[in-house]
Amino acid sequence: MVNPIYAAMPRTVFSEMSELATEFGAINLGQGFPDDPGPESVRAKAAEAVLHGDNQYPPMSGLASLRKAVAAHYAARQGLDLDWVGEVTVTSGATEALAATFLGLISPGDEVIVLQPAYDSYAPVIRQAAGIPRFVNLAPPDWRLDIGAIRREITPRTRLIVLNNPMNPTGAVMSDADLGALAELCVTHDLIAVCDEVWEEVVAPGVRHRPLMALPGMRERCVKIGSAGKMFGLTGWKVGWMCAAPALTHAILRAHQFLTYTTPPNLQAAVAWGLEHPADWFDAMPADLARSRARLTSALEAQGFVVLPGEGTYFLNIDLAASGVDLDDRTFCLRAVREAGVAAIPVSAFYEEAPVRHVVRLCFAKGDAVLDGGAERLGVARTLSVSAS
Ligand code: PMP
Ligand code: GLN
Repeated sequence: MVNPIYAAMPRTVFSEMSELATEFGAINLGQGFPDDPGPESVRAKAAEAVLHGDNQYPPMSGLASLRKAVAAHYAARQGLDLDWVGEVTVTSGATEALAATFLGLISPGDEVIVLQPAYDSYAPVIRQAAGIPRFVNLAPPDWRLDIGAIRREITPRTRLIVLNNPMNPTGAVMSDADLGALAELCVTHDLIAVCDEVWEEVVAPGVRHRPLMALPGMRERCVKIGSAGKMFGLTGWKVGWMCAAPALTHAILRAHQFLTYTTPPNLQAAVAWGLEHPADWFDAMPADLARSRARLTSALEAQGFVVLPGEGTYFLNIDLAASGVDLDDRTFCLRAVREAGVAAIPVSAFYEEAPVRHVVRLCFAKGDAVLDGGAERLGVARTLSVSAS
């Protein structure tokens, strides 16, 4: 009666932890969303578009204004030369862009290299598209790419590799050397790279995001995915896009037309406006986040935690083992939310095979009082765990 795979699937770890946070009245440093409401000027444009703009179906590929704005943004900030007509498609969040990409590009039996820790939607949708995920693990503390390990997973059936850069949950921003090696591998083995770059603007001040698509030989073999949710800190809007050469875009569009077909036109119009009027947003937002990261880091260190390095995303990670906590990440997170009133995300949830079990992800895109309270409560959870274990 029902698909047993979906029937047996747990809810996502983000839903689980947010629900537990509500149930226990906990501070939520789990699911990744800012507690700031996002730029007011962009929200005002959305309100204006709801009242006075067009509220009927927009074009399937997205509003021309947003597609042009995305192409112009990437030209200005990443040196890309995208043709908005044939190469930019608006989707309902990056989640839909990923799904349309996998459904549009994977043929039954194709193998897809997935780097773990991996965002939770990749493997289920790859399988839904009749593809076979092949996992390659990255390891803390620096989560560097192991090109040799990736090469060993490549077979004659390998068609795609999924790259999340900057990476959720690790916060790692890929080095130029790793990107170069990966591009070479894609060219040699004729692979398409699905580049989930939703965190591209959420990097520490002074760090530059480089799209894989800009590397030699990659222009025609990358699907670059972005999201206004992360760029403007409006995670509930679910306005995303994917950029790819026309032949790839064509197949992905055919999948998109039956997934969501379109995305609310008023939100698209507001995001287009935001990209055209960035003011100082793309400097101010990373600077604010850097302050929050530093504040949470020192508060956690004062509680005895060891914080891992990271340069991007809303997330920092603590190393439980190095912090003297002899519990696995999931047990620690359940104890933290139930007994200490703070929600976090166990990094093992991002692995299907050979998980790292001693790292916990925390969202620092929060106000000072929330960060201070969260760190204090994590300290309580640490004390409980150290004395109980
Ligand atoms: N990919 C990654 C790596 C993410 O972190 C997220 C959301 N946090 C998404 C995709 C989904 O983005 P959206 O909300 O635009 O669907
Ligand atoms: N991407 C968000 C995170 O990593 C969660 C998105 C979701 O809840 N599906 O926290």
